[in-house]
Amino acid sequence: MPATRARLLVMNAALGPLDYRVPEGMLIQHGSVVVAPLGPRQVTGIIWEEEKLPTSPVPESKLRPLLAIVDVPPIRAELRRLIEWTADYYIAPLASVARMVISSGGALRGPATMIEYRLSGGMPERMTPQRERAIAALEGEQATIRELSGLAGVSEAVLRGLVNQGVLEPVEVDIDRPYTGARHDYDEPELSEQQTEVSARLVEAVAAEKFAPILLDGVTGSGKTETYFEAVAQALKGDRQVLVLLPEIALTEAFLSRFEARFGAAPITWHSSLKSTERRRAWRAIASGEAQVVVGARSALFLPYANLGLIVVDEAHEISFKQEDGVRYNARDVAVMRGHFESIPVVLASATPALESLHMADSGTYEKLVLPARYGGAQLPDIQLVNLNDEQPGRGSWIAPPLRRALEDRLERGEQSLLFLNRRGYAPLTLCRNCGFRFQCPNCSAWLVEHRLSKRLACHHCGHETAPPEKCPECGEPDCLVACGPGVERIADEVAEILPDARVALVTSDTLNSPERAAEFVAMAEAKAIDVIVGTQLVTKGFHFPELTLVGVIDADLGLEGGDLRAAERTYQQVAQVAGRAGRGAKPGEVLIQTRHPEAPVIAALEAGDRDAFYEAETDARRHAGAPPFGRWAAIIVSSEDDAEARMAANRIGDTRPRLDDVMILGPAPAPLSLLRNRYRYRLLLNARRSAQLQQVIRDWLSRVDHPPGVRVGVDIDPYSFV
Ligand SMILES: [Zn+2]
Ligand SMILES: [Zn+2]
Repeated sequence: MPATRARLLVMNAALGPLDYRVPEGMLIQHGSVVVAPLGPRQVTGIIWEEEKLPTSPVPESKLRPLLAIVDVPPIRAELRRLIEWTADYYIAPLASVARMVISSGGALRGPATMIEYRLSGGMPERMTPQRERAIAALEGEQATIRELSGLAGVSEAVLRGLVNQGVLEPVEVDIDRPYTGARHDYDEPELSEQQTEVSARLVEAVAAEKFAPILLDGVTGSGKTETYFEAVAQALKGDRQVLVLLPEIALTEAFLSRFEARFGAAPITWHSSLKSTERRRAWRAIASGEAQVVVGARSALFLPYANLGLIVVDEAHEISFKQEDGVRYNARDVAVMRGHFESIPVVLASATPALESLHMADSGTYEKLVLPARYGGAQLPDIQLVNLNDEQPGRGSWIAPPLRRALEDRLERGEQSLLFLNRRGYAPLTLCRNCGFRFQCPNCSAWLVEHRLSKRLACHHCGHETAPPEKCPECGEPDCLVACGPGVERIADEVAEILPDARVALVTSDTLNSPERAAEFVAMAEAKAIDVIVGTQLVTKGFHFPELTLVGVIDADLGLEGGDLRAAERTYQQVAQVAGRAGRGAKPGEVLIQTRHPEAPVIAALEAGDRDAFYEAETDARRHAGAPPFGRWAAIIVSSEDDAEARMAANRIGDTRPRLDDVMILGPAPAPLSLLRNRYRYRLLLNARRSAQLQQVIRDWLSRVDHPPGVRVGVDIDPYSFV
């Protein structure tokens, strides 16, 4: 008998579950996406199991009828269980998690077309150099005006002129047109003996169609990607979908070309800067099962794959897998849970795995596969410390003499160098030389960072920007700004001074802010059109430049400041990853690490190239502190635009704290970023033993306290950033 009533998870976190009547003739099932009336409006929702979504029942007579079923495949049970798990574990509203699944509003609408343009063969009445250039460049192309303008290097107005003249003709295309298929046997690689062994195991895991969490632990340059590509090939053979999660959208372009070379077609990409038509096309292809391989940022994890057979999390140690707003989840950990619900293998690939992942492997929960050697016999680079206490750079400069000599030497030999400093902009702090006034963000308790390239002072927390003032706002002195400390822009300036003939490329999220820019940079570096790369953490991973033989770390101590729980691990990972960029080709690489603390365990381990020593020391420190993986952390962040209101709310929560043996509660105290985007913030930290029911404790506790509407209370389970 068809269902007569249905329970709905509606896509609105402020609402609980709602019951509706199923009109006669409407065939629904659990997971169906439907449209329902809500007051005078309409809402989208997912039909859910009543027993999994308890609410007080509504009498039959009061039920309103569902309006329509949306023409997309029902959300599968495996994914519904993942939504429930994520909401429960991260203490987030179910609707907020479900919204990450239904992440393309356009996808829910019926068949759709869009207009693209192509050359008609006609000529304009009047030819201009710009028009001539466009016509030459667009031979054989068909795309939207915006894309064509990018391809031809002329403005959209020029192209619209050509449309009016009939030189470009419109073509109506189906938004959901099929993607080019990838082929598992397009270009099978020659693998090393180790790669062959590891890939055989990965292929076996995919073929088994069972849950298998696998840590693929391989040194930088060991050919991890080629190795897990064989698992991707196996999934393609079996007509199963694959998801590859990457930490940075800037890295996607290099990945895409490697993928295309191996499988003969590009995978489908998923990230926040997709156009809405591309989003819709990808979402529907993923849901129908047509999409074979999806490469994306963490948000790709919650898409409604029809037939997932493998998940790979590449650079799995990266902190960008942790989402810091909305649902605060860690995509690495949720990926493993998705693998569990889908009964498929999940591969976490990294050269510097997170301590938590290594611990899971050592305890036998994850299987560990190791690639210990570099591909093609390339040697790991030679690592030297530059002790800044002895080797001081000159005044206003940050490159010490040994690094300077090494740079000069590389330029002479025609080899490439890379300098790493994880600080965007020109200088982290700007002050007035006359009165000492420091430029602070009006919305955050943070200094404004000078960006000379864009002639801006910017806040890296809220995005506030302002032009540098002509005179000091405090004392009125003109031309008084002094830059304090280095950012990458300043290092690039210093390189230009030392090596006036060198071609310098600056690589930060400010300069490589689109996949196209990233592709351009990679092409230039590979063509040896760049001598020195200066970059932030963006350059620490993924790139493979055979001519790069020198890596200089400007300030290895930077990451150790700040008292973050994972500071040592992050420093180790960043420096080890950036060091891994050196000597990937036939020529050996050299790494110079500038530090004021050569004796710090993490720096000493880096110098010795002794990964095990680092992980052992770090494991001891974590065990001692009850930190992950030995204990667990959670943060409760209370914020309001009104400082007193936020403080009072935090105190009320603090006053009702539970007294428990296995959970230690610290605070409330002003958060390190005590003002963020105009909201005052207070924080409580929880440190729990593994035995504690941490989420239940927090849920019970917070449910006892009420707040005024302006107060927000956020929970961060397994936090990464302690700001
Ligand atoms: Zn001043
Ligand atoms: Zn700010």
